[in-house]
Formats: sequence, structure tokens, C-alpha cells
Amino acid sequence: MISIRIEHLTKRFGAVTAVQALDLTIEAGELFFLLGPSGCGKTTLLRCLAGFYIPDEGRIRFGEEDVTRLAPHKRNTGMMFQSYALWPHLTVAENVAFGLEERKVGKAEIKRRVGEALESVHMGAYAARKPNELSGGQQQRVALARALVIRPRCLLLDEPLSNLDAKLRLEMRAEIRRVCKEFKLTTVYVTHDQKEALSISDRIAMMDGGHILQVGSPREIYRRPACKTVANFIGETDFIPGKVLGLTDGHVTVETPVGNFVGVLGDVKAKPAVGAVVTVSIRPECWNLSRENPGLNAVQGRIGDCVYLGEVAQYVFVSGGMRLKIFELNPRFVEQSARGELYARADPEDVVVLVA
Ligand code: ATP
Repeated sequence: MISIRIEHLTKRFGAVTAVQALDLTIEAGELFFLLGPSGCGKTTLLRCLAGFYIPDEGRIRFGEEDVTRLAPHKRNTGMMFQSYALWPHLTVAENVAFGLEERKVGKAEIKRRVGEALESVHMGAYAARKPNELSGGQQQRVALARALVIRPRCLLLDEPLSNLDAKLRLEMRAEIRRVCKEFKLTTVYVTHDQKEALSISDRIAMMDGGHILQVGSPREIYRRPACKTVANFIGETDFIPGKVLGLTDGHVTVETPVGNFVGVLGDVKAKPAVGAVVTVSIRPECWNLSRENPGLNAVQGRIGDCVYLGEVAQYVFVSGGMRLKIFELNPRFVEQSARGELYARADPEDVVVLVA
């Protein structure tokens, strides 16, 4: 197991700065996700780790070793990309053996290690097949075995599941986590699929414009987004503009067009002054609807549009000229008779005050 230290890394393509003065430490054995919109620099950063790009500035360390300028084949990284890129004319076993033959590993050792790698991804029975005789999910398992068989120092994955259908993606993401943890591999996983990142990562770095906006556990990133871009990219949220009325031990009171809110700061280091312009972010599932006024953090309004989805209803709640998105699990207010003037309330812990 090694940690990966990225220090002040910059990579430019002509006038475009794809990664900008980026600092990041990925702990040994961590399943770490780079998440962000298209063009934010995720793949460029991963390619710098793999050695396909030499950065313009900064350093990369695998453990204590500086690998910034080391050739890709000397880094001993296992890689898996969008396309499985298995050799079509080789069998599954031959595909997995390829990297070991290149490394001049002995025949008996190759046989043993290929067998182990295929077993670890439950593909032992398919060793003699050709790639075109496998499903997409099975091909992806072989690609994973091929990445593992060289006993890499770390695993680099770039959208590894994007060619699979929804059901297989679910199955394979759990599989990837299992394998990474079983082999105690430091893994960097690039995706723009937030569900993939939330469901299996230890930590996530949210990137935008070549920068890291926030690093945290899935819960931290979802529940305490540090800025509007992160709140907007992950999950859904209602943004309400406001002005700070006061700050008291960890809580902020904000005046908004739909009423006052007590909430928590998304970025605890930000200390907005009284009167500062801020944005309140509340997830649609954090609201609770009621007929009586529940007091603190309550917004008075009416349900406008409603989409009923069985286990959940998605409402547009109209209040003070704003249209808030509210999700109600086990929906009670879908019937017209249950509507009329209502209150929507969110706990202070679910009201995130954003300064940027
Ligand atoms: P996606 O999710 O679409 O793959 P990404 O976050 O991985 O996007 P990158 O591929 O790292 O983004 O690209 C970051 C920026 O660098 C983009 O503006 C892109 O156009 C630019 N870029 C990437 N590779 C090259 C290249 N080889 N030559 C020129 N510009 C490039």
C-alpha cells in the first residue's frame, strides 16, 4: 500500500490549463474518487498519475518515491479505462497474462497468478474464452483482473463502467470496491457519475476548472457542500438567496424572501459578516410538510405541480414568489384534499449556508 502525494501540479495544453496548482494527498489503501463536470481536468490528473502526461509544474510521489518524470511502464500502476481494450485474438487467460509476460515472469508463476487474478473477479471458469464470447460486464471483470495481476502499487480507473448498462454498473461498482479493499489497493477512480462516487468511495475530490473545490467523505460532500458548484453538481438542491442576520456557535441566521432560516456553514472556515450576501441550500428530501406552523425554519406556501412516483412525490412548493423543489417519501400531500396552505420545514442541520 502506498499513499499518493500530488504537490502543486499544473498541466497545460497550449492556452488551456487543464490542472492548476493542485495539491492533494490520497491515503494508502484509500478508494478515492475524482468527480466533476466534463472538462474539469479529472482525466488529465489521472493521466499525470499514470505517466502519460508530464506535468508542467509540481510533483507526484508514490510513497516516498518521486515519480513525476518516471515512464508509465516503470510506475507499476494497474489501469482500467472506459473501453476494456482486451486483445480480441487472445483468450481471457492470455489477455491477463500479457502484462506478466512483458515483465518476463516465469511460466509457472504466470499460470498461478493469472488463475488467482481471474478467481478474484469470479472469472476462473472463462479462462479459455475469447473476449467476443463474453458479456460487457465479464469483459470488464477481465480488464480488472489484468490490472490486478501485475500486483500494482496503485489502481487508476477512468470511467471504468460507462460502457455497461445500469444493472451491470451497480453490480460492478460493488465488485470494484470489494476487490480494492481485498487487495488493500490505493485506488484513484475518475467519474462524472455522482451515484458511483457516493456509493463506494472512501473520499471524493470535487473538481472544477482544473481546481479542487472540496475533498471529503460522501456524507460530507453531500450534506455539507462547501460552495454552490458542489451543492449543484451533487444531488438536487433548492438555492434561496439571503443575508446574514447573525452568527452563534456554529449556527447562522439568514433572512430570505421566504422567511428566516437557522442553518450551518457549508465551509466552516468561511466567517460571513452580519449583512453579508449568502445562499441557503436545502436538499428537496430535507423538507417536512405540515398543516400547522412548526415554528423554526418554516416556509408558508402551496403545492403547485406534483409528480407522483409511488414511494416518493416531487412537488413544486410555491412561496413568496419562489418555487422550491420538495420530495416527500411515503407521500401524504398528493391528494388535492390534503393541500391548501401548508408549511415546509427543514432542520437547522439540513440548512447549509454558502458564502461562495
Ligand atoms: P471528461 O469528463 O469529459 O472526460 P475531464 O474532466 O476528464 O472531462 P480533461 O479530459 O482532463 O477533463 O480535460 C481538461 C481540459 O483540458 C479540457 O478543457 C480539455 O479540452 C483540455 N484537454 C485535455 N486533453 C487535451 C489535449 N490532449 N490537448 C488539448 N487540450 C486538452
